Amino acid sequence: TINRKPILVTGGSGFIGSNFILHILSKYPDYEIVNLDKLTYAAAQDFNEQAGQFPQYTFLQGSIENQELVNFIFAEYNIRGVIHFAAESHVDNSISNPGVFVQTNIVGTSTLLNAAVTHWMDGPGRVKLGYEECRFHHISTDEVYGALGETGKFSEESKYAPNSPYSASKASSDLLVRSFNRTYGLNVVITNCSNNYGPRQHDEKLIPTIIRSALQLKPIPIYGNGCNVRDWLHVQDHAEAIDLVYHRGTNGETYNVGSDNEWNNLNLALEICTILDELATEQLREAGLTNYSELIQFVNDRPGHDWRYAIDTTKINKELSWKAGTPFRTGLRQTIEWYREMYQPKQIVRV
Ligand code: NAD
Repeated sequence: TINRKPILVTGGSGFIGSNFILHILSKYPDYEIVNLDKLTYAAAQDFNEQAGQFPQYTFLQGSIENQELVNFIFAEYNIRGVIHFAAESHVDNSISNPGVFVQTNIVGTSTLLNAAVTHWMDGPGRVKLGYEECRFHHISTDEVYGALGETGKFSEESKYAPNSPYSASKASSDLLVRSFNRTYGLNVVITNCSNNYGPRQHDEKLIPTIIRSALQLKPIPIYGNGCNVRDWLHVQDHAEAIDLVYHRGTNGETYNVGSDNEWNNLNLALEICTILDELATEQLREAGLTNYSELIQFVNDRPGHDWRYAIDTTKINKELSWKAGTPFRTGLRQTIEWYREMYQPKQIVRV
């Protein structure tokens, strides 16, 4: 097995990183995981408490942009693998403040790559003795490929055509990772994944926004006419795909990860509302509504809003026998229940 020794997970307190860390800590009790996270607004603040129960878990608060800090971590913890999640991840924020996306997603990735080359390589194409199995796994998005029309899917051969500052910064970081493989011989794998859903996703993202708005009996905002299509993958399925590619993917290769589960935003909101109609009937009745879908409201479209994303998963399916396993309605129901618990008004304690 590759990399039994300390793995640096960046952005491990975020949505996907935190789910991945719990997966890996439970599955591989002999792995040491070092989580470097800046704890921006997007981080799950209480995650360390949960992960802290595993003795092989270490949390370090800091930025991937700090070269001195990253070099220190590589040396101090004898890092033998990197799984790089840390990023600014919300498209809308990248429209209002693109600079921070350039800094975190591009500069931050180059900082990590520099450290990997410094610590693992003896020069272009020459891996230091004892570091032969070290690997850099870059986590990326299908948004780097731009938008699709009514038909077609993104494959690993699709042309990069990012449309938002977010996807452009992720595309840039993918290309940097690729270049460190081709130029220095660094052992890398890249995964480009479709939209994730599941527990611990930040409130600002689509599915949590729909659930929260409904439960707070506020308008459920849907961009444009609601016809933009996304392929939704459960975060646990993504964690399993990353585990597989990290351990068994071919050096220098990219793998697309998705779940053949396309929904337009309006139908997705309607589906969530239907589940909530069953789960929260009492609240619905008290509010004088027949269905939660009455709260859906169309709002001005996002500028440059990509029409449709869909993923061709043939490569990961054929080479690594991976296929998304979570049925959408089951995953969605569990996710809704998780958020319902979170958004429930806390008990008032009278003193
Ligand atoms: P997230 O926004 O929930 O979490 C990002 C984490 O990175 C946060 O904990 C944040 O504190 C940390 N971070 C931000 N800047 C940092 C810095 N400078 N130094 C250290 N840590 C920093 O994001 P997510 O949804 O978990 O996405 C994780 C990765 O997966 C990203 O690279 C994203 O591009 C990619 N991705 C996400 C999705 C999705 O649907 N969420 C889909 C495909 C790919």
